[in-house]
Amino acid sequence: MRPENTTSQELLIPQLIETIDTVLLDIPLVRPHKFSVLTIESQSVLLVRITTNAGVVGIGEGVVPGGPWWGGESVEGMQAIIDRYIAPLLIGQDAMCVGHLSRRMQRVAAGAPFARSAIDMALWDACGKSVGLPVWQLLGGRHRAEIPVTWALGADSVDAVIAEATTKLESGQHSRFKLKMGATEPAADVARVSAIVESLGDRALFSVDLNASWDEATARRWLPALDAAGVDIVEQPLPSWNLSAAARLRDQHRLKFMADESVLSVSDAHRVADAHAADIFSVKVAKCGGLTGVQRVATIAESHGIACFGGTTIETSIGTAAATHVFCSLPDLTAGCELFGPLLLADDIVENPTVYASGNVILGEGPGLGIAIDEDKVAKYARR
Ligand code: MN
Repeated sequence: MRPENTTSQELLIPQLIETIDTVLLDIPLVRPHKFSVLTIESQSVLLVRITTNAGVVGIGEGVVPGGPWWGGESVEGMQAIIDRYIAPLLIGQDAMCVGHLSRRMQRVAAGAPFARSAIDMALWDACGKSVGLPVWQLLGGRHRAEIPVTWALGADSVDAVIAEATTKLESGQHSRFKLKMGATEPAADVARVSAIVESLGDRALFSVDLNASWDEATARRWLPALDAAGVDIVEQPLPSWNLSAAARLRDQHRLKFMADESVLSVSDAHRVADAHAADIFSVKVAKCGGLTGVQRVATIAESHGIACFGGTTIETSIGTAAATHVFCSLPDLTAGCELFGPLLLADDIVENPTVYASGNVILGEGPGLGIAIDEDKVAKYARR
């Protein structure tokens, strides 16, 4: 209902973008986090603030998993693209036209979905704040208000990892776990993972993420062992382009195949679905170019009967809020999520960090993304 003494003209007042500020932060982790090609001890974040002529400040962040190894982008590259190419395009535009601006950003920053996602996120936050509604309401409403979180286990010894998983299980926090693979020789890698999964597989679900590090022959040799050990999901065993091999291997195993590096854009989603190369899409705000892109990729998944999983790029509570809002808006996010970023970071840069309960991430309330920046923390972690 329209507030008293307010005309429709006033409700539709544009939010003209006046400034776009970016700052690089480096935030320590609670423990080192290992990927197939590198181990990180801190996460770098590009904090973005969009201020409108009405004084609304939209907040977004850009993150990558530790560096440009994953998809070619870095926080440093994002800052350059936003400051020099995206900001001049958006200054003076109406932040409320977020879908339109997302499309225009693609024209000036092709192949830079991570950079565009930081802006898209801040635009959605500004939209929500300007009308006093949480972002999930602007995205068409929510299908759920919490999402089970898969926990990423560390890269320690088998005994230490089993102990970590057991602690999580027994405290009722997490019952789905992900193990990173691909950093060591396949024989040792598979033996390690199999020992962990066989020890706990009757109490928990396990996925493994190879981050595109095997070729088809290696996968043909070693996937049967992972299947036999009881692994539930294998994420991106092969390079992103090798969809025909993924389809062949998927046919031969009961393992569910999750596509991550293979699915960034809507057209990627079409190609993977047409190739029958995945059971599940990992959708991520950063790689999909923002919340707008996540919804579009999820629609392609829905139209092919493919499930969605809410992936992470190791976000602070800002990116985690954005992801939770859009993931809760997806009808078929049946595989849960891995929004553990705030649990892996040793500190946060907001006054109201992400809330978790019983292993689920809880959807916050707005307006916008419902987050308040802690300026002292931003100053503390700003790169000098
Ligand atoms: Mn992945």
